[in-house]
Amino acid sequence: MTDELDPITIAGGGLAGLSLGIGLRSRGFPVSVIESGNYPRHRVCGEFISGVTPADLEKLAVPDLLNDAVANRTTSWHTDSHCFFESELPSPAMGISRFALDQILADQFLSAGGKLQTGTRFLLSESKTEGTVLAIGRPRRTHSNWIGLKAHLRNFEFHSDLEMHLGNGGYLGISRVENGIANACGLFKVQKSIKASKTELLLAYLEKSGLSKLAKRIRITEIVPESCLGVNAFELGHQLPKTPTEPDQMMLGDQFAIIGPFTGNGMSMAFQSAAVAVDPLVAYAKKEIGWAECCLEVNDELATKFRKRLGMSRLLHPFLTGGAQQKLLVMLGENNLLPFSLLFRHLRT
Ligand SMILES: Cc1cc2nc3c(=O)[nH]c(=O)nc-3n(C[C@H](O)[C@H](O)[C@H](O)COP(=O)(O)OP(=O)(O)OC[C@H]3O[C@@H](n4cnc5c(N)ncnc54)[C@H](O)[C@@H]3O)c2cc1C
Repeated sequence: MTDELDPITIAGGGLAGLSLGIGLRSRGFPVSVIESGNYPRHRVCGEFISGVTPADLEKLAVPDLLNDAVANRTTSWHTDSHCFFESELPSPAMGISRFALDQILADQFLSAGGKLQTGTRFLLSESKTEGTVLAIGRPRRTHSNWIGLKAHLRNFEFHSDLEMHLGNGGYLGISRVENGIANACGLFKVQKSIKASKTELLLAYLEKSGLSKLAKRIRITEIVPESCLGVNAFELGHQLPKTPTEPDQMMLGDQFAIIGPFTGNGMSMAFQSAAVAVDPLVAYAKKEIGWAECCLEVNDELATKFRKRLGMSRLLHPFLTGGAQQKLLVMLGENNLLPFSLLFRHLRT
């Protein structure tokens, strides 16, 4: 149908890139996705999906994407000494490994007739070409205070579907994904003194953060070696300067903004940013609007949509990572004074 239409190229075949590609293909537009990696592969991610709505998935033409994911319904919050808060989650969060999810999306994109080039790094010098969408994940920083670590565990004994463990300088979430596997993933302040192998690094960070009992519980599970990964060189929050120097660029998902991992909302934001981009890109591809107008429309909508939750996440982050604020959080939890449902809602809208 579309020979005369402008082609759209999406750099990055993660959640934002592939779901946008499927959404555009379902409307008949030619789309290429350029992905530097290959599928399937493990990713550093809590794999806990909370906040994306059926309407978002419908917009992206993937209404059934999470149907087979595990529903996580309960949560418990812990220090190394005790559990200080337990609750039902205000709405179930879906658990599925990135190993499975990214592959499902790549397959659906190909079945929808998309062109997928894997093992190919998109050159940022080409990002100013009109019709190019940047969905390449976290912008790399030269310096960062944070390291994200992840491991899949077999035979982990759960207290609740989502366990959150708060340490001194970091936190770890453990939740259910497919096939009875527990995904342990957390964020820690970088400790230059820690030197450990890939499979020992998470345990070393837990020990250093005062979470020795948790480390002991994890040691008696079967850690899946190929799932043990780490990422650093990223910053939380808005990734674009307040006044974008390149207003005619479209950046989705983590390229646009990174919310604190404790929210379990980053993947939902990736899907939602792709959903926001669908209609403006369709209008651009039909030559109803120009590229600059298309980018402006998407950037404005993303800024409005994500403002509150990014602000809340920035505010709450220090409460999870130690010090007096963490003590206050624990005290509120112990005394049933934690407005958990309210915070949960405001971190998703
Ligand atoms: C420690 C940690 C825990 C997290 N836990 C959760 C959680 O529990 N729940 C949740 O919802 N979110 C969580 N997140 C956030 C979530 O992983 C991200 O928000 C989400 O993956 C963003 O999707 P994306 O499509 O923007 O980027 P990605 O999924 O990272 O995809 C970007 C893609 O671009 C590719 N790429 C990069 N550079 C290039 C290039 N130059 N050319 C071509 N391709 C390129 C990459 O290979 C990748 O496939 C967590 C993040 C961290 C760090």
